[in-house]
Amino acid sequence: MALSGMQIYKLLPRTNCKECGYPTCLAFAMKLAAKQVELDDCPYVSEESRAQLAEASQPPIRLVRVSADGREAQAGNETVMFRHEKRFFYKPGLFVRLYDDQPPKVLKEQAKEVADYSVEYVGMELRVDGLAVEATGGGAQFAGAVEAVLDAALLPLVLIAEDAQVMGEGLKAARKAGVRPLIYGATAETWEAFVSLAKEYGVPMAIREQYLDVMADLTAQIKEAGVDDIVLDHGARDLPVALAKQTHMRRLALQNVRELGYPQIAFPGESVDDPELTTIAAAQAIAKYAGFVVLDGFSPATVYPLLALRENIYTDPQTPIQVQPGLYEIGEPTADSPLYVTTNFSITYFSVANEVSGSGVPGWLLVTDAEGMSVLTAWAAGKFDAVRIAKAVKENDVSEKVNHKKLVIPGHVSVLLGEIEEELPDWKILVGPREAVDIPSYTKVWDTL
Ligand code: SF4
Repeated sequence: MALSGMQIYKLLPRTNCKECGYPTCLAFAMKLAAKQVELDDCPYVSEESRAQLAEASQPPIRLVRVSADGREAQAGNETVMFRHEKRFFYKPGLFVRLYDDQPPKVLKEQAKEVADYSVEYVGMELRVDGLAVEATGGGAQFAGAVEAVLDAALLPLVLIAEDAQVMGEGLKAARKAGVRPLIYGATAETWEAFVSLAKEYGVPMAIREQYLDVMADLTAQIKEAGVDDIVLDHGARDLPVALAKQTHMRRLALQNVRELGYPQIAFPGESVDDPELTTIAAAQAIAKYAGFVVLDGFSPATVYPLLALRENIYTDPQTPIQVQPGLYEIGEPTADSPLYVTTNFSITYFSVANEVSGSGVPGWLLVTDAEGMSVLTAWAAGKFDAVRIAKAVKENDVSEKVNHKKLVIPGHVSVLLGEIEEELPDWKILVGPREAVDIPSYTKVWDTL
């Protein structure tokens, strides 16, 4: 049973020493009750109180990991329904499903294609997390497929089989390669055999059950039987119903219904008739609480938007993604190349840098410290103004890099023109395009300005 903030407060030292970062023990207790801090943040909790607070300090959703060759996919430890309440922590793992009835050569090619895929997004390298291998026949075929897949790509795995014996063969193959997979396929009828496997191989197991009260009973029994790492599949393969169930399960978990306090797994391809709609179904799963997402088929056109969506949902909304301020070379600029200025919000930086690069005219890009805000936001907040721009020009010795002394400012802040001219009297300030996409055409006229 979860403890209230006042109950937690009575178990704290009540010295208000502030070492936890909060002004009073009561404030810390309220945060702990809301699962927004860790008990270890207070160094003075007695052992006796710690035992009593264990329940309150446990994350409402257990962290479950799968791993291979140093790579991990983790899900759980979430504490809020909505990102703006705090943040989401563990990005859902994206897995691509392969079937064991394919020849080993084909499986290897498919696995390698997934493993080799990476895409750069605002300075980050994004990749698919792993593979799912599904059994369609006997144990030998399944084991052979797992071996082939892992031979081509040593990635985290989800093993899918309805028959526990078949699953056992797949697990043997995974163990030989040092992989710790998630095993999927247990139901109310078969869970005990899967528990034996999960315990023997030390792996997490998923359980599929459509009724949440039955699922809660099952997870309690699985836990009692000795398996702590559990993943849930509510069984709905209809988008609105799946959304309702995923949301309900998350809410119950955050309300400390411990039996449902586990990550969820989703199979978006099973929810749509048209494969073209898989991306939409997967986007719903990522946004609404799946911890493991198994995709049917792989194509960069499907995966890239999902990786970008996931990245955006799982970044801290209070900490914009930023690049380091400084003077960047785009292409191989010379002293005669155009000089642009912008802010250090990653998406702004990469939008401008990509357009300068795509224009075919190398350039210099001066990135000012605007605390990670985009141009207009930073200007409105007083973080992108004439003083800061002039300071960046001087600190980066820009006048030693270019000989034309022309600085292009974003069109959205043309209002700064006069002030920058006052701060940089030796420079000619040019108002550039409002949108980065217009930079290539701007470069054609830049040297006439
Ligand atoms: Fe209270 Fe512990 Fe925080 Fe100190 S560190 S204020 S004792 S909760």
